Amino acid sequence: MTAPALIIGGGLAGAGLAVSLATAGRAVTLIERETRAQHKVCGEFISAEAMLYLRDLGIDLDGLGAVPIDRVCLFAGERRAAAYLPFSARSLSRYALDEALLNRAVRCGARVLRGHKAIGVERDEGGRRWRATLDDGTSVSASEIFLATGKHDLRGWKRPPGSQNDLIGFKLHWRLAASQAQALSGAVELFLFPGGYVGLEPVENDVVNLCLVVRRRTLFARGQSWQTLFASLLKSCPHLRRRLDGAQPCWPRPLAIGAIPYGFVQRRADGLWRLGDQAACTPSFSGDGMSIALHSARLAAQYFSQGYDARTFQARLSQDVAPQVQRATLLSQMLLQPFGQKAGMTALEWLPSLLSVVAQATRLPQRRVDAARADFL
Ligand SMILES: Cc1cc2nc3c(=O)[nH]c(=O)nc-3n(C[C@H](O)[C@H](O)[C@H](O)COP(=O)(O)OP(=O)(O)OC[C@H]3O[C@@H](n4cnc5c(N)ncnc54)[C@H](O)[C@@H]3O)c2cc1C
Repeated sequence: MTAPALIIGGGLAGAGLAVSLATAGRAVTLIERETRAQHKVCGEFISAEAMLYLRDLGIDLDGLGAVPIDRVCLFAGERRAAAYLPFSARSLSRYALDEALLNRAVRCGARVLRGHKAIGVERDEGGRRWRATLDDGTSVSASEIFLATGKHDLRGWKRPPGSQNDLIGFKLHWRLAASQAQALSGAVELFLFPGGYVGLEPVENDVVNLCLVVRRRTLFARGQSWQTLFASLLKSCPHLRRRLDGAQPCWPRPLAIGAIPYGFVQRRADGLWRLGDQAACTPSFSGDGMSIALHSARLAAQYFSQGYDARTFQARLSQDVAPQVQRATLLSQMLLQPFGQKAGMTALEWLPSLLSVVAQATRLPQRRVDAARADFL
């Protein structure tokens, strides 16, 4: 099989790029290893920047049942700080969002092959083309390959580590008691605990998403057991315990993901167009990973359509995202230290509006988004 542009991975970055290229009349093939919609480990907080990109891609978030979010509350033990977000955000499960974007890519004319996993990528024809090998033994020859496999590295194309590599992510959907669901309405709540932090926010269909990251050694100290970790969480986060009082988990076990290279930004050009988490991995509390994924998709569509190479694209992308990824990673490292948690809470109790400053400082600057949106289509 041949394809001028081959996208590997149909998450937000890959599907976003497929929509943009297909809309611009480009022939594009996308391969996604999953045959149908999947839940993914994610806080499911959609920032204002991500909302803009999704609207441009033809995604009607409100039509999909996305929930408006305008407040953030931070808890450490019994201590609490709250502020309004400096923008209006949304919350929607990745199950619904990624599927909607992938379906949109199909409707826009992209060739989407589901249930195919790329197991290798190599240069072909003396370096002029690429060949991707799939798990069924077939291969695809392409002039350009866009790597959008998220946290999953392709063999031989592993990303270097980030600057915070010891965190494991978990996610579990819940149905809260009616009074607690009502109290959480419109808010994202963040709970700091020794060795990690938990996010709780409503998504569509009266479901609430609980997503957390925890240090590997904290999890090991609890026998690597979700039940033991969860019990210790409820003990150290009294407000979370109240929220989950009478709640029912939607699945028997949480989803989990390990070895997240937080702080990683792809600066080295290797010939592939790296998108989304393959290009940069920002700490989860910032709620900015999806906007980086969508920004990378927009830039890739623009640079590819204008005849630039992967090296030029990657340099521009890292310039756009590196400063806030670094700031978010520093803060994330601080938030996992007992002293950092105490100092952070004290500062926010005195000046809750600092939460808005932190929210701005750890996300893609609006001017970068405006520039990318203005330059394409
Ligand atoms: C704990 C946690 C919480 C987070 N919370 C938030 C949040 O609240 N808000 C936010 O904006 N961001 C958040 N993020 C970050 C966000 O989830 C990611 O940045 C975003 O999903 C990246 O999109 P992507 O398209 O690069 O990768 P993904 O969404 O992971 O998509 C990759 C796709 O590639 C497919 N794939 C993988 N390997 C192959 C292969 N070999 N062949 C074919 N297909 C393949 C996968 O099936 C998948 O569909 C969080 C991340 C974590 C870990």
